[in-house]
Amino acid sequence: MNSSLISVLPDLNLLLAPPINYIFAGVCGAIIGSFLNVVIHRLPHEESIVFPNSRCPSCEAVIAFYDNVPVLSYVLLGGRCRGCKQRISPRYPAVELLTALLFIAVAWRDGITPALPFDLVFVSALVALVFIDAEHMILPNAITYPGIAFAVIARLALPYLMGQPHFEDLPSLMAGVLNGLPRWAASLGGAVLGALIGGGSLWLMGWTWEKLRGIEAMGLGDVKMMFMVGAYLGWRLTVLTIFLAVLSGSLTGILLMLKQRERNMQMLLPFGVFLGTASIAALLIGSRIVEWYAGQFR
Ligand SMILES: [Zn+2]
Repeated sequence: MNSSLISVLPDLNLLLAPPINYIFAGVCGAIIGSFLNVVIHRLPHEESIVFPNSRCPSCEAVIAFYDNVPVLSYVLLGGRCRGCKQRISPRYPAVELLTALLFIAVAWRDGITPALPFDLVFVSALVALVFIDAEHMILPNAITYPGIAFAVIARLALPYLMGQPHFEDLPSLMAGVLNGLPRWAASLGGAVLGALIGGGSLWLMGWTWEKLRGIEAMGLGDVKMMFMVGAYLGWRLTVLTIFLAVLSGSLTGILLMLKQRERNMQMLLPFGVFLGTASIAALLIGSRIVEWYAGQFR
């Protein structure tokens, strides 16, 4: 029985696992974070992600491999390009550090299980989406479409790799509507239901807002992103994700309006930032929040 809010955190004893695992997860995260920087910088401009080599945005000098070490190079170079001494955006080390910390958190939650690489891919895609949306107010199809396909593949593979229903929504679904179906069909059914609830509610929110205000409030990017999140996390964690995103998005919107002393309701926030952040929170501690919430009514 979970009755205290502390119980939403992953098991603290797991942190005593060999620290080398967490160091390894952190280093992998920083390297992937460095790659995500390239994705975040180049995808919105439709540049190739693989070629050419990274260049300084100011002087266009090719960045040497020893100046491209995640986080470390930024610190050693004092946040400036070796050639032209122009400031390097702190977003680069921030994304690397954040990805490293998220990889450690996911490794803490999952342990060394078949779910770990899937969850790491999911979190990486969300980090890229959050930072691209924050800067350009778009959620590129180049991430959301493969993301949806990836979520479906994970749903089909993980129950077999894990040897048990891995996803939060399955036990309740299999006891009810999906009773008697083979494992893969139940898992796929859970993915479709989650995607419909995730993408559908975002589409409905945009449609309602458009009817009320006569302006387009929500792009289809949010809908596609929530297809991916819903398929991957299942309906329970998707409902939690949307709740957390609407809550944090509204609070941020109100704070910004108060700060700017401007009651402009047409101000647009990149909602994908809140949805992405909430999705990562739901993956990490969502099932424990749902359990804790349900426990209040027992
Ligand atoms: Zn430069």
